[in-house]
Amino acid sequence: MADCIFCKIAGGGIPSNKIYEDEELLAFYDLKPQAPLHFLVIPKKHIPSVMDLDSADVPLLGRLLNKAQELAAALGCAETGARFVINCKADGGQTVDHLHCHVLGGRALGWPPG
Ligand code: 5GP
Ligand code: ZN
Repeated sequence: MADCIFCKIAGGGIPSNKIYEDEELLAFYDLKPQAPLHFLVIPKKHIPSVMDLDSADVPLLGRLLNKAQELAAALGCAETGARFVINCKADGGQTVDHLHCHVLGGRALGWPPG
C-alpha cells in the first residue's frame, strides 16, 4: 500500500534495523523501544489490523507468532519471557495501520495496561 510506512519498510524504501526477513515476514527493532528488547514482526502483505484478518490468513499469522517466539528466545527471553502484543485500531492503541506484533522483553512489564 503506497502510503503505509511498514509497507515501505518491507519494500526497502525506508531503512530499518532488521532482525529477520523471509518472503512473507519481516522483523525489525522498534524506533522507540519501550523495553530493553522491543521489536516488531510484520507480514509483508498489507493487512491493516486484526479486524481485517480472514481465514486465509491463519497460516501466515501462525508463522508470524512462531517467528516472534523463535526470535524472542534467540534474543534472550526463553527463560524470562516476553510480551507479545498486537494493538488493534483506536481503542487498542494502534498507530500504524499495518498489522504488527510487538515483542517486548528484558524487564518485568506491568499489567493491566493504562
Ligand atoms: P502501534 O502503536 O501501532 O501498536 O505500534 C507502532 C510502532 O511502530 C510504535 O511502537 C512505533 O515506535 C513504531 N514505529 C513507527 N514508525 C516506525 C519506523 O519508521 N521504524 C520503526 N522501526 N518503528 C516505527
Ligand atoms: Zn502496509
